Amino acid sequence: MTAKILDGKALASRIRQSLKEKVDLRAAQGLKAPGLAVILVGHNPASEVYVRNKRNACKEVGFHSVSHNLSKETSEKELLSLIDELNRDSSVNGILVQLPLPGHIDENKVTESIFPEKDVDGFHPYNIGRLTLKMPLLRPCTPKGIMTLLNETGIDLIGKEAVIVGASNIVGRPAALELLMARCTVTVCHSKTGNLDAHLKRADIIVAAVGIPGFIRGEQIKEGAIIIDVGINRLESGKLAGDVDFDSASQRASWITPVPGGVGPMTVASLLENTLQAAELLDQKT
Ligand code: NDP
Repeated sequence: MTAKILDGKALASRIRQSLKEKVDLRAAQGLKAPGLAVILVGHNPASEVYVRNKRNACKEVGFHSVSHNLSKETSEKELLSLIDELNRDSSVNGILVQLPLPGHIDENKVTESIFPEKDVDGFHPYNIGRLTLKMPLLRPCTPKGIMTLLNETGIDLIGKEAVIVGASNIVGRPAALELLMARCTVTVCHSKTGNLDAHLKRADIIVAAVGIPGFIRGEQIKEGAIIIDVGINRLESGKLAGDVDFDSASQRASWITPVPGGVGPMTVASLLENTLQAAELLDQKT
């Protein structure tokens, strides 16, 4: 079997086009363009790329975007005070603090300080709690993007065996909640999982979010499995690689996401969708 490519780049582009049309429609109705505030603390080269992509995407769809580039010496108190200001600013619908933050800043405290209705990353305990209870509001971007990609295959997800490798707060855990809500049977593996191979072998859907290039190989997966590769790993050569060995896995999978051009662009598209949703929620309140 040679896998079909789940093209996140093309799908994200269609989503951005549709969002642009919605922004134009809002303008025609006298409604403001959704506003996103992006905060970057310090100089992490990967974070700078992600933030640039998010800002460019906002521009493309006609969102109002404000950038706050703070020095790495910024104190937790200063950051919390900026978030407080943005929470109260009615032109800002979404607040995104790019992670990771410098070590002296408590990420959990920062995440919790964002108003849940402006938490477009979907990381606030309120939004995670709602997802847990099958009543999602703002959903974590990468898992939401994964679900949009899976829906694109047209395959009925109900009852499928989904195995997630990686249990982080931003990818693995919320991806498990999403797949559970889609009525899959979900297994979450992590660094202490014994016999990972046995889990992978029975999976109809594999979500790889480990952070190790080429960690999952074709011979470990079932014929016809759907492979979602979340990993973004920079190799010494400068090339980007996923957590799945694409060449061997694409010989056995039915569908596979490439890296780059798979989950990455969908994460940004989901962020834009969340920002529009946050703006619509505010419209309903006022
Ligand atoms: P984390 O480092 O936070 O989590 C990695 C997870 O993988 C942990 O749960 C860890 O287990 C598990 N793990 C590590 N080694 C093994 C192993 N040998 N066997 C099984 N599980 C293992 O990473 P993130 O979730 O933040 O990111 C994962 C990857 O996804 C990275 O490459 C990152 O760059 C990428 N990413 C891509 C995004 C996108 O938009 N495409 C968005 C976010 C991340 P344990 O819990 O036991 O430590």
